[in-house]
Amino acid sequence: MTRFVSVGECMVEMAPQGKSGQYAMSFAGDTLNTAWYAQRLAPDWAVQYATAVGSGPVSDQMVDFLSDAGVGTDFVRRIDDRTLGLYLIALNNGERHFSYWRSQSAARLLAQDGPFLLRAFAAADVIYFSGITLAVQEGSGRDKLLDALARARTRGKTIVFDSNLRPGLWDSADQMCAWVTKAATVSHIVLPSHDDEARHFGDKDALATRDRYVALGAATVVVKNGPGLIHYQHQGARGVTEPAVVSDVVDTTAAGDSFNAGFLTAHFGGAGIEEAIHAASNVARRVIQGRGALVAI
Ligand code: ADP
Repeated sequence: MTRFVSVGECMVEMAPQGKSGQYAMSFAGDTLNTAWYAQRLAPDWAVQYATAVGSGPVSDQMVDFLSDAGVGTDFVRRIDDRTLGLYLIALNNGERHFSYWRSQSAARLLAQDGPFLLRAFAAADVIYFSGITLAVQEGSGRDKLLDALARARTRGKTIVFDSNLRPGLWDSADQMCAWVTKAATVSHIVLPSHDDEARHFGDKDALATRDRYVALGAATVVVKNGPGLIHYQHQGARGVTEPAVVSDVVDTTAAGDSFNAGFLTAHFGGAGIEEAIHAASNVARRVIQGRGALVAI
């Protein structure tokens, strides 16, 4: 049994329901999505979501949502004077536009309680975090998070990082790139997406993305690239695989998050690197043929 701890922010999602003016509330977040898929794909895993929430009823509902999905809540911190972050989707000529309210999000204080993080990480074999987890931390939280991960690494935990570049969450693109680079240096496995990386790091192709993270010390790098070829390096061996062709893409939300869950559950389940990437792209293929972040696959 693998003990998987995903750490990050889960938000309230308000999605419009047709033209009725009504909204449906649900919960989503990159690291939550990966935990959710990991639990479904590997029911024998012990999956925990490490986060912080407020004390009101909407926070209670989120914790219930996690439990109902089989995702453990042992490491959900309660912070009384905070709440959950929220985003609202507005449709503009068929395009989805996102508005965010997250300044009072409890998850921004997630890393302020050092002993809490150490307890969560001590209970893991594999720890998963993202560039968004890091971006939203307030004050000294980013340093505290990376210090706790580095400490967990020295204690034999495997650290997995999806850079998930979101420039809007950072003061500047330079600041984002500096922190993401630092985060990669504490990680064994890095799972970036090439298009974002090219935009912000200037990688000329997916191989450049792969090589940049390998140079930072990651033993395993798998570069997602939408429908494009997936380049990887794993313990010194390089290769490339083709994702499954999908002609009827419905919604690419959580393609990368679900890919990561597919990859990690296969990889730690004993699959070889290419077999694990195939499993991952098959999971993502099914997810992008459904609507929303959490597709019952
Ligand atoms: P992200 O959601 O992080 O931007 P990508 O868009 O690179 O990630 O997609 C992640 C994975 O999902 C890809 O590596 C691929 O396996 C699958 N995928 C995404 N878009 C497509 C597509 N149009 N056709 C086939 N597979 C896709």
